[in-house]
Amino acid sequence: MKKYPFLSLKTNNQPYIDELKCAILKTLESGWFLNGENTKNLEHEIASLCHTQYAVACSNGLDALRLIFRAYIESGAMQAGDEVIVPANTYIASILAVTDNHLIPIFVEPSETTLNLDTEKLEAAITNRTKAIMTVHLYGAACWSPILNNLSKKYGLKIIEDNAQAIGAESEYQGLTGGHITGGLGDAAGLSFYPTKNLGALGDAGAVTTNDEQIANIIRALANYGSDKRYHNIYKGLNCRMDETQAAALLVKLRHLPEITAARRERAAIYEKEINNPAVRKPLFDKGAVWHQYIVRTKERDRFRQYLLDNGVETDIHYATPPHQQPCYSEYSRLCLPITERIASEVTSLPITEGTPLSDIREIAGIINEFK
Ligand SMILES: *Cc1c(COP(=O)(O)O)cnc(C)c1O
Repeated sequence: MKKYPFLSLKTNNQPYIDELKCAILKTLESGWFLNGENTKNLEHEIASLCHTQYAVACSNGLDALRLIFRAYIESGAMQAGDEVIVPANTYIASILAVTDNHLIPIFVEPSETTLNLDTEKLEAAITNRTKAIMTVHLYGAACWSPILNNLSKKYGLKIIEDNAQAIGAESEYQGLTGGHITGGLGDAAGLSFYPTKNLGALGDAGAVTTNDEQIANIIRALANYGSDKRYHNIYKGLNCRMDETQAAALLVKLRHLPEITAARRERAAIYEKEINNPAVRKPLFDKGAVWHQYIVRTKERDRFRQYLLDNGVETDIHYATPPHQQPCYSEYSRLCLPITERIASEVTSLPITEGTPLSDIREIAGIINEFK
C-alpha cells in the first residue's frame, strides 16, 4: 500500500541541503557562535518581512511570547495579576507565556468558520484589570478585525500577536499601524522557527517583531541576562538568545520562504477544490493564509482518521486537548467552552507541507471523498 506521510522534514529540507551545509560550515569556520552577523542580518530580514521597525531574534517561540509580556511588565504597562484575553482554541504555548508572567488568561471562544478568536466576543470579556488581548494566527490564517483596532484605542489595551504559525500571512484588515502582514498588525508579536513551522530552523529558534523601540530594547536586554551594556544588568534577565548556526540556516530558508508559502497555498487549493464529501467540513480561511495546517472537521473523527490510516494517509490533530483542559491548568478545568471543546473533538490535520507531491494531495482528496 502507498504511504502518505504527514510530514517529512528530511524531504522538506532536501532542496536546500547544499546551501544549508555551506552556511553552517561557514559559521563553524568563523568561530563566532552568538550575537554575530547572521543574527543581525536575520533580524533585519524578519523585520522587513513583517513590515516592522524592529525584530529581536531569540531562542524559541514560547520565549518570544514570554519576553513580550515580561517586557511590558518591566516597562510598567502591566503587572502580576492583570488579565490578558486569549483564544481558548490555541496551542498551549500561547497561554504558558501569559501564566509564566503571573498574568491571568481570560479564555474567549473561537469563531466556527475561522476556528480563530471570535473578535465579536472580545468586548464582553474586558474588565478593569484587562491589559492586553492576545490574537493567535492559528493554522496560518491571520486573526484580525477592525474590532481589535477599536478595542485597543477605546480601552488602551496592548494587542499581542502569536505569529508562530503564520509567518508572511496577510490580513484582510489593517493592523494598528496600517500594515496587513502578520507580526506587524499589533503592538508586538512572537514568531517560532521550530523545525515544523513554515520557516523552520534546524532546532529551536524564534523572534519578536514590534514597532515599539522601548519594548524592542527591553526584550533585547532581557534575552541577554538583562544587560544593556556588557556586565551592566538593568533587569533580572534570562538567556534567550539565538545561535548563529540557526540564524545561518534560517537566512538560507528565508530566501526560499516565498516558494514554500506558494507550495502550501497550491496544496490547500487542491484540497479546497477536490474534497467534496458532505461528512467532511473544510476550513474557510482567507486568501492571505499561509496554511501552516490544513484542518478538516468530521463528527466521527476517530473513525475518519482510522479510515485514512487504513488507506496509508497519516494525519495529526491540532489540538486534541484545549489548554483549559490540560492537567497543568486544573484551575480552568471547570470553564465551559463548548465551541473550543467541539473543535478539539472534530479536527484532523491533513498532509500539507511543500514536500508532499501534488499528485499525493489529489490522491488523498480522492480517498477522503470515498469516506462514508
Ligand atoms: C509552535 C507554537 C508556539 C511555540 O513556539 P516554540 O518555538 O515551539 O516555542 C507558540 N504558539 C503557537 C501557536 C505555536 O504553534
